[in-house]
Amino acid sequence: MTLIETVQPTLDKVYKRLAKEGLRDLTLLEYDRYLNASLWGKIKKWVFERDQRTCKICTANGKRIEMDVHHRSYDLEVLEGKNEKMLVTLCRRCHNLVEKYPDGRKRYDLDEKDFEYLRLIDVHSIMLKEGIPLRLESKVTKQYQQISLLHDPREALLFRTLDSCLEEYQRFPISSYFVGIFLTLLINSYTYRN
Ligand SMILES: [Zn+2]
Repeated sequence: MTLIETVQPTLDKVYKRLAKEGLRDLTLLEYDRYLNASLWGKIKKWVFERDQRTCKICTANGKRIEMDVHHRSYDLEVLEGKNEKMLVTLCRRCHNLVEKYPDGRKRYDLDEKDFEYLRLIDVHSIMLKEGIPLRLESKVTKQYQQISLLHDPREALLFRTLDSCLEEYQRFPISSYFVGIFLTLLINSYTYRN
């Protein structure tokens, strides 16, 4: 079922309610109220299913990762569920990268946010091509988590500045790779001995 087919009955109900309040359309509804309404819940569920709960930027997925649906536009047709192209699944971390500057201030300019969204997709695809490991899985065993933290100490940076991580790897690609392997072996031998 298309998004609008799925949400049309709910949308009709919302419009009946809005009419009683004298509101012409959804763009006049306070955004918090919109997000709390069942219409948004249904839209979100539909987008998650379409994207298989996979982040469009970093491709993280899994039940234990917090996922959001990001609005690339707040046009009426998007709010009503009539334009699913402008709604995408992002993990909470990537969503924050799009919504906020590295210093934590919120980005308000929609074009700027969308530029950042597309840029991060590019950065991630370059990282994949270069073989730079991305450790975003939530289903990690204790051992694996240890490895990933030591293997890639810049992981924390990743969520702040994906490109600074990329730059660093491009500068020292070989050393980073060997340090990773060395630490993995070290941890493996340590884990098996204990
Ligand atoms: Zn992500």
